[in-house]
Amino acid sequence: VVPELPEVETIARDLRARIVGARIARVELSGKPLRQRRRVDRSALERALAGHRIEAIDRRAKYLLVGMSSGETLLVHLGMSGRLALVSADLSRAAHTHAVFALEGGADELRFVDPRRFGTLVVRRTDNLDAAPELRGLGLDPTRAEFTAQALYARLRGTRGCDVKAFLLDQRRLAGVGNIYASEALYGAQIHPRAIANSLSRARARRLADAVRHVLERAVESRGTTFRDYLDAQGWEGENQHNLQVFMRDGQPCYRCGAKLRRIVQQARSTYYCPCCQR
Ligand SMILES: [Zn+2]
Repeated sequence: VVPELPEVETIARDLRARIVGARIARVELSGKPLRQRRRVDRSALERALAGHRIEAIDRRAKYLLVGMSSGETLLVHLGMSGRLALVSADLSRAAHTHAVFALEGGADELRFVDPRRFGTLVVRRTDNLDAAPELRGLGLDPTRAEFTAQALYARLRGTRGCDVKAFLLDQRRLAGVGNIYASEALYGAQIHPRAIANSLSRARARRLADAVRHVLERAVESRGTTFRDYLDAQGWEGENQHNLQVFMRDGQPCYRCGAKLRRIVQQARSTYYCPCCQR
């Protein structure tokens, strides 16, 4: 299961508490290409990171932003299966470790592990981050104040015939909602996943905005959802899988009405919903 916004936010919070102020002594890369078979730019990472202090850890959509004293920011996207964890340098390295950022003092390392290699490690100027190709086209971030019912309604109206599930997953419209939280939010808002996005009423858009915010907040409080791949920066597991109402519960009874939950496939991805509550 792909790391989504709550998992990335959890990692950002953990790392912020632990490594802001630390200096990166050394960068080691596996040399294997990551997303879109792109090679990680070794010289750019060394220039931006090695010998420089970590000044800030932020998140934008599903990107982790590691702001460095060099004036550059490391953007990390976990892709389908990536992990970024602070671990003791004594521990042996997991298979598929593609980057190691050794911290000064030698006790700890920040390691990027990514079995499926859909992740991204790239360096951009901090003073011009908004123009970074990775961040430029991102939609509304549902955890920020800009995400209002009105803003969501306007974005829904701006679509042309796509269904609401596809809308929720489109990172150019809404940034950071993935497959788990799309199903959960539609269940919370009692909206059918095949409903046409631009036909939703203002009232339903408001319910959807509330539901998206709610499922993400609850997931962040629970430190994310763990199935297989995702472990937070301390290697602890998230607890949000216990909060899920519909995801991977097809065939089981709806907690609200008792009807059997269903699974359908939309854009090659599973959607879980209640045929009675969601119309
Ligand atoms: Zn139901």
